[in-house]
Amino acid sequence: MRKYIVLNWKMAPSSLKEARVLFQILRQNKSSLRVIVIPPFIYLESALKLLSQKYFLGAQDVFWQNRAYATGEISPKMLKSMGVKYVIVGHSERRHYFKETDEMINLKIKACLENGLVPILCIGEKERKEKESCLSFHIKKTLFEQLNKALSGVNLKKKESLVIAYEPVWAIGSNLPETVESAEEVLKLIRFWLLRRFPESLAKSISLLYGGSVRGKNIKNYLCSKIINGVLVGSASTNKKELIKILNSKF
Ligand code: PEP
Repeated sequence: MRKYIVLNWKMAPSSLKEARVLFQILRQNKSSLRVIVIPPFIYLESALKLLSQKYFLGAQDVFWQNRAYATGEISPKMLKSMGVKYVIVGHSERRHYFKETDEMINLKIKACLENGLVPILCIGEKERKEKESCLSFHIKKTLFEQLNKALSGVNLKKKESLVIAYEPVWAIGSNLPETVESAEEVLKLIRFWLLRRFPESLAKSISLLYGGSVRGKNIKNYLCSKIINGVLVGSASTNKKELIKILNSKF
């Protein structure tokens, strides 16, 4: 499996001019990593024009229907027509600010799959107490509940795929990343759940990522792991110096 580097630009940068500078950095990069660039919706058209085909394009959210009175929303069909392949679904910031529920996330995942888009499902516990194990009852319960609800009724057909990102909420934007060892333990737990839920070959083909305070200085540690199939990088991916370090990471 080729490692994924998912760049979630969140709501940055604040102008198209600055976004173009980041696109230019991506254009100049020669690495052969599988990089998925996920800018705000408003920069997708420029990304499509300015980035070479070695990059995959992603969106940060999607509505669950193609036709609806849904002011302000973006449909799966619209994303597809913009060259988008991946969609982040269930990011903790959307769960928090927009009160997105697991039921809404489930509808979005189904809409992505029906429209030929690959959902990147984000799951993770909100808090970790001091000295709490990454496999504590509370964490297992949270993750299994999120997986059960988000993937309820989801049966992957041929050619459909799914990516799951373990993003403990306390690690996002905090500069307190989960250790590689603990991230590996949690991803093994998620794989265990997938093996019970899907046929073996399918469960094994689902890529599992880690996200939360991944930066230029620590990305290599995660990418070296045999268990972690890639990383989801947030704020560091819109910082020019950090972006260059991330793209040049050797492992
Ligand atoms: C994220 O937004 O999913 C994320 C992982 O952010 P950060 O890398 O800034 O922690």
